[in-house]
Amino acid sequence: MIDARGIYKAFGNVEVLKGVDIQVARSEVVAIIGSSGSGKSTLLRCLNYLEKIDAGSIAIENDFLVQNNIHNRAHYAPERTIKNICARMGMVFQQFNLFPHMTVLQNVIEAPVTVKKLKRDEIVPLAQELLRKVGLENKQDCYPSQLSGGQKQRVAIARALAMQPQIMLFDEPTSALDPELTGEVLKTMQQLAEDKMTMVVVTHEMGFAREVANQVLFMDKGVIVESGEASSFFANPQHARTQAFLSSML
Ligand code: ATP
Ligand code: MG
Repeated sequence: MIDARGIYKAFGNVEVLKGVDIQVARSEVVAIIGSSGSGKSTLLRCLNYLEKIDAGSIAIENDFLVQNNIHNRAHYAPERTIKNICARMGMVFQQFNLFPHMTVLQNVIEAPVTVKKLKRDEIVPLAQELLRKVGLENKQDCYPSQLSGGQKQRVAIARALAMQPQIMLFDEPTSALDPELTGEVLKTMQQLAEDKMTMVVVTHEMGFAREVANQVLFMDKGVIVESGEASSFFANPQHARTQAFLSSML
C-alpha cells in the first residue's frame, strides 16, 4: 500500500531524514514512535507531499509519487499523478485545524464539495454516517468553539474520512488533548483499524501502539533504529536506544 525507500530530507543544511524506509501493507496499522525532533512528522508529511524529499522513492499502491533519477535525486511525478495519489490519503494533525466559521457538518462536507465537486445531497448522508461513527451525530450544527478537544479531533477524523481515503495518516492526534479526552479519540482510531483502514500513526501512546498497531517503528535522529511486530517490539526491544526511549515513556 505504501512503499517508501531511502528517504532523505534536509531543511537547509540540517538533515532530518537520513535514509528512511517504510512499508505498509493494506489494512495494516503502523505506529511511529520516537523522541521530539527525530523526524516523525517530517516523514509523515513527505508521504503526503506536504514536504518534498531530496532523494528516495515513495509509491502508493504501486504508483510512484516520487523516485530517484539517475543522479539519485528525487524526481516527482507529474502534477496530475501527484494529485491523484494524494487524494488516496487523509491526514489528521495534532491541532485539529477545523474551519472555525463552519459548523461541524460544513467542516466535514467542505472538501468533498469543493475538491471532489460532489453535490451537497450526495455527501451529506455520508457525512452524517461518519459523524455517527465518531459518536457526534448530535453535534452536526455546532461550531468548533462549542466542542471539547476530543470532539474536535473526532470531527477532524470524520472530515478526513469524508474524502474516502484508502490510507489515514495521524500525527500525534491526541497530544493536544487532556488525558481524559485522549481515550475517546483512541477508541475512534481503534474502530477505524477494526474496519481495516490502512493507518500510519505517529504517537506517544504506547498502549495504543502495543494493542492496535501491527508494526512499530522507532525513529531517532532521522533514522529508523528499530522496527518490528508490535508485541515483540515492546516485549523485547533490541537496541539500547529503543530500550532507553521505552523506559523514558513509562
Ligand atoms: P515532535 O515529537 O516534537 O513532533 P518530530 O519527530 O515530529 O518531533 P519533526 O517535526 O519531523 O520531528 O522535526 C525534525 C527536525 O526537523 C527538527 O529538528 C525540526 O526542527 C526540523 N524541522 C521540521 N520542519 C522544519 C521546517 N519546515 N524548517 C526547518 N526545520 C524543520
Ligand atoms: Mg512531530
